Amino acid sequence: MRKTKIICTIGPATDSPERLKALTESGMDCARLNTSHGNAEYLRKVINRIRKIAQKLKPGLSVILDLSGPKVRVGTLPEPLTLHRGETAVMVKEGVSHEGKVILLTSTGFFSHIKKGDLIYLSDGSIKLRAISVSRDSIRTEVLEGGILTSHKGVNIPGHEGKYILTQSDIHFIEFGVVNQVDWIALSFITSERDIMQARKAIQSKGADIPIIAKIERAEAVENIEKIIRVADGIMIARGDLGVELPVEEIPIIQKRIIGLCNRSGRPVITATQMLSSMVLQPIPTRAEVTDVANAVLDGSDAVMLSEETAVGKYPIRSVKMMSRIIERAESCYPYLRSYGNRTVSDSIAHSTAEIAMEIDAEAIVTFTRTGMTAINVSKFRPRPPIIAIAHDEKVLRRLSLVWGCVPLETVEESIDPDKTISEVIEMSVRKGIIEGKGHVVLTSGFPFGKPGSTNTIRVLKIKDILEKQPTS
Ligand code: PEP
Repeated sequence: MRKTKIICTIGPATDSPERLKALTESGMDCARLNTSHGNAEYLRKVINRIRKIAQKLKPGLSVILDLSGPKVRVGTLPEPLTLHRGETAVMVKEGVSHEGKVILLTSTGFFSHIKKGDLIYLSDGSIKLRAISVSRDSIRTEVLEGGILTSHKGVNIPGHEGKYILTQSDIHFIEFGVVNQVDWIALSFITSERDIMQARKAIQSKGADIPIIAKIERAEAVENIEKIIRVADGIMIARGDLGVELPVEEIPIIQKRIIGLCNRSGRPVITATQMLSSMVLQPIPTRAEVTDVANAVLDGSDAVMLSEETAVGKYPIRSVKMMSRIIERAESCYPYLRSYGNRTVSDSIAHSTAEIAMEIDAEAIVTFTRTGMTAINVSKFRPRPPIIAIAHDEKVLRRLSLVWGCVPLETVEESIDPDKTISEVIEMSVRKGIIEGKGHVVLTSGFPFGKPGSTNTIRVLKIKDILEKQPTS
């Protein structure tokens, strides 16, 4: 069973019920919706489709709402704009008309920081411009690296982005996320832990506790990474913008460092962007892309992400199937069972659970988890058997869809008889083909049952005995 999770960005190539179903059947664990590319009505429609599919096919299927943050973007272009090296293009605010090649922008507030000679990057840095004259309303640029520019692509001016702010659009989409019960909210362009706390307050002010994924895409965020990991619920290494903000050769080193820090802290970490880029247009990936996905898995990512491949690509379903195959192969030679030097009781219990499960070749680890923390803690030690997560709350289960090795099963009724719940869960796991039913499971939970943060118990159970309704330990 595949342990590393797959996130698919949803867009015009995959937003129909048929395509969403095909993505799910091909391995999507989590759907990412980007607020830069779609209004609330569109996003609501897609979320409802995903929820319907989840009900039928995969209860753990979750939704990330990715807020665009203070990033300047290309506006809505009437048609793709081809920019050739050496020619001149003018940047203006959307709605303003101008002669010649015109790049429409969602915001021009940054114009006052730009000087003649500054470099401006578009579309994850694939298009490079140099400012040749700057006025309050427009910037004339020379195209240094050309390309085809499409609507809503990102604009980067490294070093000139200024402070992080929660934009009006972000606040509006936080409310949208709360109303539509998205499972994660991702924050773009944060610089420090304070930015996450600001967003958390905004979420809490709407009466919700949606977990936050911090997208690491600015130099300041890399500098503050340890503090960010402490307060965020998950981390995304957003390599697209990161590779424009910092020299591109820094990315592999930053990726490995962030994944290592996240793994130690038990923080789910996503490696994102350009993983199978060539599959936007081609049916097979390059050898380098295949190696990149495999390396992200072996580095310790909890999840890997497809962006344009599934949002606008010609081969979205093939991309997911390909990613799944690469992950499975990489996991066949994975360095299972980690040790970090255990500090807390829950770490010690989680590590021992993983170790016992590996030693006795258990069919699965079963975690009873009220907040998801027990399952996340066991995952941190990267055991080979699947980690079946049992919760009473479907929100908790869906959040675990991003966590390495976790199989969010189904919600179970809270029961005063733990043995009854255990046999129900085992029966369900056999029925769903997660376990065969011939060996053992290792169970970890808190005792007394149901008290959050009290993981203190490990039991080894023979599946056959449970199925025969004779619990033993
Ligand atoms: C990235 O820059 O890698 C990224 C994931 O962010 P976005 O797709 O929102 O630009």
